[in-house]
Amino acid sequence: MPTLFSKIIAGEIPADVVYQDEHVVAFRDIVPVAPVHVLIVPRSEIGGLASLPESGDHTHILNAAKKIAETEGIAETGYRLVFNEGVDGGQTVPHLHAHLLGGRKMSWPPG
Ligand code: AMP
Repeated sequence: MPTLFSKIIAGEIPADVVYQDEHVVAFRDIVPVAPVHVLIVPRSEIGGLASLPESGDHTHILNAAKKIAETEGIAETGYRLVFNEGVDGGQTVPHLHAHLLGGRKMSWPPG
């Protein structure tokens, strides 16, 4: 079964794509929790951090985050990159993704 994010990557479900390359696709979260809230998703279907392969598309998430932060205008002010893993981590979509959050001051610890 393709994941929700695989369907977005395939163009079967619409999304506001802000960046894509051969390894990742990034689009705005449908329920943003910050002025900038972008999901960065590897093209390959990796369930999450618990099933991470040694190499592959996911290794390009950090470089994509840096580029998107620049184009979104938050590279100077700062931002947060979050991976939710499993039930306690709050993961709801079983396809590895990073949340790029910025445009406001973040608090710590996270909820
Ligand atoms: P997580 O809870 O870490 O698995 O993150 C999943 C994220 O996907 C949530 O922040 C949702 O708001 C977001 N989301 C769910 N459906 C869509 C969609 N169709 N387009 C964009 N973002 C979505």
